[in-house]
Amino acid sequence: MESIVLFGPAGAGKGTQAQRIMDSTGLPQVSTGDMLRAAVSAGTPTGVEAKKYMDAGQLVPDDVIIALIKDRIQEADAVNGVMFDGFPRTIPQAEALANITEVSHVIAIEVPDERIVERICGRFTCSECGAVYHDKFNPTTVEGMCDTCGSEEFKRRADDNADTVMSRLSAYHEQTSPLAEWYQSIGIFHIINGDREIDLITEDILSALK
Ligand code: ADP
Ligand code: ADP
Ligand code: ZN
Repeated sequence: MESIVLFGPAGAGKGTQAQRIMDSTGLPQVSTGDMLRAAVSAGTPTGVEAKKYMDAGQLVPDDVIIALIKDRIQEADAVNGVMFDGFPRTIPQAEALANITEVSHVIAIEVPDERIVERICGRFTCSECGAVYHDKFNPTTVEGMCDTCGSEEFKRRADDNADTVMSRLSAYHEQTSPLAEWYQSIGIFHIINGDREIDLITEDILSALK
């Protein structure tokens, strides 16, 4: 089984692209951020522990994340690999991953810091199907109605505010970006310019995966 890693800062477009390439890859999206938010809503011990870090825009401790991933990868839909979104984010997480499953491609979506704040502050998602939208850059076709499922309920993340974004960006530069070199040295790292139209980025990702 071979997995794909979508790599990049908050707001780079990892979730947006994961939804678009899911059909072509046939691999399920595994977002540690989504899993943590589900744990927070469910009030599990993991959720209680993770919430304080998430609210502060800091990384959740590696042991918590690695335990989540170990469980997730055992599920039936993961037999042919998965598409990781927002994992790994530290060298210890990448080392743990290397012991669990093989990674065939790391897709690094690059977006300059100055674009990130506007991306994050305009983000909203469909409460029903999780489709990702943006007030300005990627609105729904019909106002107030999800293009994918027709739902009229949307949500915004509590941590998607200008303050937390700055902490998340520094966590990215300090703890996550060193991973780029690690993956570059293994020769599976593909850099994609994420500061363009969504469709063009999808095309580049699909050709990198060929
Ligand atoms: P990530 O999963 O990397 O945090 P998202 O996919 O949630 O990023 O995208 C962050 C926000 O930016 C969303 O509101 C999304 O609609 C918007 N977005 C995604 N890709 C682009 C793009 N290429 N250009 C402009 N806005 C984008
Ligand atoms: P974004 O890419 O928009 O920052 P995510 O949904 O990937 O957001 O993550 C939200 C928060 O969850 C992060 O700020 C962090 O606190 C936590 N988190 C998610 N994935 C990881 C991870 N792999 N390692 C540590 N913390 C994580
Ligand atoms: Zn929807």
